[in-house]
Amino acid sequence: MKPKAYFTFLALLGALCVPANAQEECGHGSFHSWLDGVREEAEAQGVSSDTLRVLDDVRFDQDIIRRDRAQGVFSQTFLEFAGRMVNANRMQVGASRLKKHKKIFDEIEQAYGVPGPVITAFWGLETDYGANTGDFNTLNALASLAYDCRRPDKFHPQLIYALRILDRGDLRPQEMIGAWAGEIGQVQFQPEDYFERGVDFDNDGRIDLRNSVPDVLASSANLLKEGGWRAGEPWLEEVSIPRDMDWKEADLAVRHPRSQWAEWGVRARDGGKIKADDLEASLLLPMGHNGPAFLAYPNFSVYLDWNQSLVYATTAAYFATRLAGAPPVSKGNGEVAPMGVKQILELQKLLARQGYDIGKLDGIIGTATRSAVKDVQIKLGLPADSYPTPELLSRLRSM
Ligand code: CA
Repeated sequence: MKPKAYFTFLALLGALCVPANAQEECGHGSFHSWLDGVREEAEAQGVSSDTLRVLDDVRFDQDIIRRDRAQGVFSQTFLEFAGRMVNANRMQVGASRLKKHKKIFDEIEQAYGVPGPVITAFWGLETDYGANTGDFNTLNALASLAYDCRRPDKFHPQLIYALRILDRGDLRPQEMIGAWAGEIGQVQFQPEDYFERGVDFDNDGRIDLRNSVPDVLASSANLLKEGGWRAGEPWLEEVSIPRDMDWKEADLAVRHPRSQWAEWGVRARDGGKIKADDLEASLLLPMGHNGPAFLAYPNFSVYLDWNQSLVYATTAAYFATRLAGAPPVSKGNGEVAPMGVKQILELQKLLARQGYDIGKLDGIIGTATRSAVKDVQIKLGLPADSYPTPELLSRLRSM
């Protein structure tokens, strides 16, 4: 399983655009001669020449490239994003879908071990339960992105998989439309996941992730199962935390049995006891020690596979807990000063200057940034909760 929704997710966030003239730079030759190579490759993988006739109509789409170059950067906090995405309408429609398709969800949980609320949350976040699946021609989109020099390694295989989906008869060419980055259907599967992990759950002989709800839901469950979903286990649980925790334990890379967290004073959200057993969990503080607190169970890692953005992953997991009956998230222990993209970028530069390898300076608080922040917090004697604050930024400036 690969992170799938991230690119469309970024594109939703608005854009500034860079003109794309880079196609000639990576030696692909003309678009049409390059497509001939795609044709040969697909043929070698068994795609029939009948199916491959669809390539005659494929064209390069500059608009797709512009979207791919859009530098949308995500700087909303978990509470801002969850507040927007997990709104009353999505909750209500989600609850009614769970009820309407209860029999299918029960069968799916039997078969794959993934509960209905988990699938429904992705369904709601990705496309509003199938309402917004995108109207881009998938082959044009993938061919354009595969031909472009920016990330052909990512998109070229997806183009071949899209052709294999057509060849298998899951979709007709005119049905193959979806998101600008090539994701298809009600949960926005990349063609590789569609081909390899799609399920024909209504037994009509084809996997239809655009129109068949049973296929959509079972395929999502199968994708999650193959990503390591553990049946019968929780994924995320809101907790309340004592003010004197050893904050460096609050790190997705640190796991302890629930009994250990209980011993350290972690309580259920309502102040009651948490289960004090051997199940391992991390203490997740998406906005630091003053913000909301969760125990993230091993199943939470499947969310991060689905989408590498911690804010998205936490929101999807939280949404699923809400659909499963959890109350709205509390705001935590205090105020959390937000950091804008510019501040996060400056922070990343300062961390890099201190010798931390935080990968691409992108203005996103990802795993590497969090881990560098934690290390600096320990050095400075600040609460080591991995979450950057304006205070930390000003201390870094004078280091
Ligand atoms: Ca089907």
